[in-house]
Amino acid sequence: MAENDFDFNNQEEAEIAQILALQMNDRALAEHRAKMPTGPSLEECDACGAEIPEARRIAAPGCTMCITCQEISEKRKRINGF
Ligand SMILES: [Zn+2]
Repeated sequence: MAENDFDFNNQEEAEIAQILALQMNDRALAEHRAKMPTGPSLEECDACGAEIPEARRIAAPGCTMCITCQEISEKRKRINGF
């Protein structure tokens, strides 16, 4: 009987751990989403202040940089690895 209780508790703990892991995963996803640009795109480049063409704002919702700065930023990421 005691052994059964122990097993049950272990299973329950495993389930709680699983739920916690899922919740943490959800939170990580939510945080990741929060970091992603969302909402209306900026009308002016965040980096150089140049006007972002409307076509780009529509093509890349939530963009904050003009194409030039975006390309520089992506090249820098590729070179530096972040
Ligand atoms: Zn720019």
